[in-house]
Order: sequence, then structure tokens, then C-alpha cells
Amino acid sequence: MKKRAIFLDRDGTINEDVGYPNKPSQIKIFSSSFDALAKINASGFLAVIITNQSGIGRGYLTEADLEEIHQKMKADFAERGARLDGIYACPHYELSPNPRYRKSCDCRKPKPGLALRAAEDLGIDLAGSYFIGDKVEDVLFGLNIGARPVLVLTGSGVETEKKLKEMNLRPAHTAADLSAAVDWILGQKRP
Ligand SMILES: [Mg+2]
Ligand SMILES: [Zn+2]
Repeated sequence: MKKRAIFLDRDGTINEDVGYPNKPSQIKIFSSSFDALAKINASGFLAVIITNQSGIGRGYLTEADLEEIHQKMKADFAERGARLDGIYACPHYELSPNPRYRKSCDCRKPKPGLALRAAEDLGIDLAGSYFIGDKVEDVLFGLNIGARPVLVLTGSGVETEKKLKEMNLRPAHTAADLSAAVDWILGQKRP
């Protein structure tokens, strides 16, 4: 049987959004994210990060820098008894000086590419899954993959809530932060 996932945006959702971090010391994980992730782990949902990292295409960090950041995040979570089941990142930027990253890809949120890849790799039922994020692109992404989008008010969330109203778009739920979003999801009946 396929597993369900709680997909997570990274910057502004799990950790502070500081622009284009290129080393682990620049990643400040919100204190409530540790318990939130442990709750996901205990629930049986997979916890999978989906993150746009156009900073790679823009030349602000390398794929190796990103790998180092993600290894450190996994280690920080592991130290607190929590586990990330997968991390998927889009490195592309349409105007990248590097041809390797210069493309209009199918994996930059809100395009569904990374979720489709994760679903294939990990055996995920997207329709039974959720996406938690702080930007309009995150809500659109959740809708595009047929999952239920949850907006958090951390990061750009407050601004995003206003934009969504103007666009007449509605997430399945809006929560103060990641921990509250996870609590809401775990209280929902299976769709
Ligand atoms: Mg974000
Ligand atoms: Zn991409």
C-alpha cells in the first residue's frame, strides 16, 4: 500500500528564510520544527522537503554546499529524535549563467516535478498527502500535485495570506506555524 506524505517547504517553513544561505551555520531551524517533525514521524506519514534552490543556478551556492546544508539539517533533527525521509531541491534558474542550470524546468514549484519524483522513489499516494509552505507557489504546488495545501504564517506567510485572498485562492487550512499545521493535519480524516 502506498504511503502518504506531509511534504514540507524548507525556508520560512522549517527554518528562517534568510535569502540564499550557502552554509549550514546560516540555517536557523525554528525551535518548534523539531517536535513537529517527530510528530510526523510517529504518525506514519513520510516527511519530505520540497525546496526551490535557484540560488544554485544564480551562482550563490553549489550543489555540494546544498548537500552539506541538508546533511547538517538531517543530523540536527536526528539529534532531537526526528527524521527527514527525503529532500528534493530544484537548482534551476532560467537566466543562469551556467548552462547546466539554465532551463525552464518542470521541477520548480509550483510545477509538480519534484513531488512526482518523490512519489515514484518513495511510493507516495499524492492525493492522500499534504503540502505545508509559506508562499503562493507552495499553495499552488499543493493544488497542482492533487494534495491538500496548508499555509503557515511563518516566513512570508502573512503576506501570502493577503495575496491568496486577492487571487481568490484558498489553502485547505492556515496555521500559525509548522507544529500547528501538523497538529491540524493529524486531526483530519483520511480523504
Ligand atoms: Mg518558503
Ligand atoms: Zn528545476
